[in-house]
Amino acid sequence: MHTCIIDAHNHPDWYGKNVDQFIQEMDELNIQKCWLLSWEAPYDEVDPDQFNVLSESPYRSRRGPVDFSRCLAYKEKYQDRFYLGYAPDPRSPECIDNLDAAIALYGVKIFGEVKIRTVYDNPDCIDVFRYCGKLGLPVVLHIENPSYTGSKYPRRSYWYGGGLEALERVLEKCPETNFIGHAQAFWAGISKEGALPGESYPTGKVIPGGKIPELLHKYGNLYCDLSANSGLNALRRDREFARNFLLEFQDRCLFARDKFGNELQSFLMGLDLPETALSKILGGNAIGLLHG
Ligand SMILES: [Zn+2]
Repeated sequence: MHTCIIDAHNHPDWYGKNVDQFIQEMDELNIQKCWLLSWEAPYDEVDPDQFNVLSESPYRSRRGPVDFSRCLAYKEKYQDRFYLGYAPDPRSPECIDNLDAAIALYGVKIFGEVKIRTVYDNPDCIDVFRYCGKLGLPVVLHIENPSYTGSKYPRRSYWYGGGLEALERVLEKCPETNFIGHAQAFWAGISKEGALPGESYPTGKVIPGGKIPELLHKYGNLYCDLSANSGLNALRRDREFARNFLLEFQDRCLFARDKFGNELQSFLMGLDLPETALSKILGGNAIGLLHG
């Protein structure tokens, strides 16, 4: 099989891997290209427990845990291996100007990763998401329900996006923008019971009637990012359901990692999917979403 494999979600310096190690692993796993995403958020919106996977403490970097300048450094070293993602905080007054400049100067193709402590149909977010739709930039959304820290400070909990209800309002308000959903609260919605309090990675057979299949049927502008433990966990809950889900939404699911290793690729290869479906999921859909 000759498929172009694209990792549609990863970050520079993530888990302490540098650019040469990053490329070496892509070569070993036959991954031709990668969407390299920023994560810019105020320091108090980032759980200190995650500092171990970050390149820079958000306490040191002005713009957040994964500064876009690091994506750029990777791209400059290996031009033909990366597509640039950049999501300046949509709540900041200079968001659109910074985005425009990054598109003009560096050819940014994706607005992501959006991982901030706000409900995503916040009017400032909607304004920026619609702008992305006009430019043909897909938007990558991290959706996570509150996870409680057990202490009062720095935060009682961390959460991003406002759940699937907010996602639905975003899809409705921005019909010309393509959104790629990701993370725990998104993938819990594969099953009818959805996200249960305190359970980021639900287990057990998938119960048909989940919110995510419903949204995929209702909104043609929603896509699914299979990355991280959340994506793989959702698929592993129920192999048969996963295979049918991937077949039905073969034009809407994207192979992506958000970490290193080959678990997801092996899992997908083991499902005995038809070659056309597999090839779209592994790379075709990621290419199709990029404008120009
Ligand atoms: Zn994420």
